[in-house]
Amino acid sequence: MKTKDKSIKQGQASAPIQLVDLKRQYASIKKEMDDAYKSVMDSCMFIRGKEHDDFAKEFALYCETKACAPVANGSDALSLSLLAMGIGEGDEVIIPALSFIATSESITWTGAKPVFVDIVKSNGLINTNLIEAAITRQAKAIMPVHLYGHPADMDAIMAIAKKHDLKVIEDACQAHGARYKGKRAGSLGHAAAFSFYPGKNLGACGDGGAVTSNDESIISKVMQVGNYGSVKKYKHPIEGINSRLDEMQAAFLRVKLRYLDKWSTKRRDVARIYSKELEGAGDLILPEDEPDCENVYHLYALRTTKRDELNEYLRSKGVMSQIHYPDPLHLLGAYGYLGHKKGQFPISEDFCAKELSLPLFAELTEPEISRIIETTRSFF
Ligand SMILES: *Cc1c(COP(=O)(O)O)cnc(C)c1O
Repeated sequence: MKTKDKSIKQGQASAPIQLVDLKRQYASIKKEMDDAYKSVMDSCMFIRGKEHDDFAKEFALYCETKACAPVANGSDALSLSLLAMGIGEGDEVIIPALSFIATSESITWTGAKPVFVDIVKSNGLINTNLIEAAITRQAKAIMPVHLYGHPADMDAIMAIAKKHDLKVIEDACQAHGARYKGKRAGSLGHAAAFSFYPGKNLGACGDGGAVTSNDESIISKVMQVGNYGSVKKYKHPIEGINSRLDEMQAAFLRVKLRYLDKWSTKRRDVARIYSKELEGAGDLILPEDEPDCENVYHLYALRTTKRDELNEYLRSKGVMSQIHYPDPLHLLGAYGYLGHKKGQFPISEDFCAKELSLPLFAELTEPEISRIIETTRSFF
């Protein structure tokens, strides 16, 4: 009886706070999104038309790169970047042991093999001090992941790549608009891959992806491979696949791109409030802002030894936290064949055992931010 009274009294105040609330984002830009839909429907041009070409130009400009190839999703953006560089069967690509499976899957898809490297304890990003030891004769590329919106240490990575004649493909699928020493994510390696999955910082209303690069030959190769190997209609000097960003998604993304910097600033502001207000609560380890990086906080990833209990507690109070990710790549069933053992990448394993992401999106209200902080503090 007591709990029931309480929940009634709290009413709206206890409505669940989602990890990401896309309905609110849509509500904030409804007219422009609906106009974009209408305009594509009126044109009845659905594949590689004006919206696609304009988005490619605008996203390249945004990422401060020479060119951009829109594709069907972030996984294809990674795979096609590798293929465009001639990487595949028999080659190795070095990646952090902590990421979403799409990072490693995109490598295997080309026929190449993912080689894992452990992460930096403080931020979960690839440990550049461990990269050289992982380079074999088969190594062709390094694929750093700007995980949670935080750029990897690209100066160190580019220096190693130069020394060993390797390509660098940024997995920027969580880092639209992030900056490293003033430069945009997407402009730091030889090529970069972005995902426009709906929940990403720049998300379509379906799947989408893009490759950015300052090397226009990589971009035209990706465009060709993503269009059945064709540049001129019905001329196919090579085979490719069908991987394109459709007009509807391009039109939606063009609307959202205009808001992206504003949304990123808001994410950063909320993350700073979390870090300030949660400091010292229990054994929490909080993400740190680094002075030469502009993190776009795709996720606010904290760590605690009581992760599972905290997750359950928060969710029972309507704060919809989530784990990213419960297992490092080398311990996933899919990579059993590589024969990795528990304990091989201990920092990644420890990170996965302790990580929890708090709700974070641009439309969070002040009372919600306070509630997320208060609920987290009250657990400890
Ligand atoms: C989302 C994501 C991808 C894959 O993007 P999709 O569009 O889902 O194929 C790749 N890498 C990372 C780090 C991601 O978060």
